Amino acid sequence: MAKINLIKVKGNSFYCDGVFSIGVYIKDRMAVLIDSGISKDVAKEVDKTLVQANAQLTAIINTHCHGDHSGGNAFFQQKYPQVKIFATEAEKPFIEDPLMAPVCFCGGAAAFEQLKKCKPIAPQQPSKVTDIISPYQDQKICIGNEFFEIINLPGHTRGMIAIKTPDNVLYCGDAIFGEETFNKYPILYYTFIDETLNSFKKLRSLVPSVDAALIYHGGMISDLVMLIDEHEKRILETKNMIFAMLSETALSIEEITAKIMQLKKIPDDLISYMLTKVPMQAYVAELEREGLVEVKVTEGVNRAHVKDKSSSHVTHHPKPIVF
Ligand SMILES: [Zn+2]
Repeated sequence: MAKINLIKVKGNSFYCDGVFSIGVYIKDRMAVLIDSGISKDVAKEVDKTLVQANAQLTAIINTHCHGDHSGGNAFFQQKYPQVKIFATEAEKPFIEDPLMAPVCFCGGAAAFEQLKKCKPIAPQQPSKVTDIISPYQDQKICIGNEFFEIINLPGHTRGMIAIKTPDNVLYCGDAIFGEETFNKYPILYYTFIDETLNSFKKLRSLVPSVDAALIYHGGMISDLVMLIDEHEKRILETKNMIFAMLSETALSIEEITAKIMQLKKIPDDLISYMLTKVPMQAYVAELEREGLVEVKVTEGVNRAHVKDKSSSHVTHHPKPIVF
């Protein structure tokens, strides 16, 4: 495991170099982590780095539940039993119970082994959320004598948050992804489409007032607005593509997933399948919420179909962005 270095952003705000940009805030020997890495091994390296910096871990704020963000919690909680772990109410059950996410992926029933072992999906060990961020609204939390701003950005998950440190540095979690991730995954992992688009608007409005912005998969971002625009465009394209497919014929979520995977050349493995299928569910549910499609079970298959066949394109969508 490669050594992890701290990179200074501004004042007391840092991030870890490497695959994941774990946020670190150090003030008067007190350290606060924004997310904890994907595994015990990563957490151990982060811990070494904190020890070298002569800092004591006081708290972890989880932006959301995914295993690449909360996978280090258990190591830190075992080593430092007093450490506070902050998360929102919606994310808490998934952080505390590693089976929750794989079971959700499998429709609430027994999960496939491969999903249970998938580190980015769920933490491999349980940890206890000691401090619930509730209600789910923008607020400040106090750790030591320092105030951190919690900014709600639902969409990637139901209860995701961004965190603004007292240095006015914004850690965006997975609200958006870096160029590499953006280009690698034709279907971006968003599970609530309307909320995602609203979160993009909110994030865009925050950009002028922050001194620096970081994303977990991509590090420090200089042109966040451009990246948000690209994400928005991709989401609207995907939504339109699904609507166009449904305008041709009624399709089940599985059938849409199969078409998209073939069209976008997404590899045929269970994880890639699930990371495509779950967003497809989100898009169809959004189209249904907007009254554009409805779902109907016929001969044992639940398919979505366009409500009014006379409308051949999506007219209810927010206006496309002009680039
Ligand atoms: Zn995530």
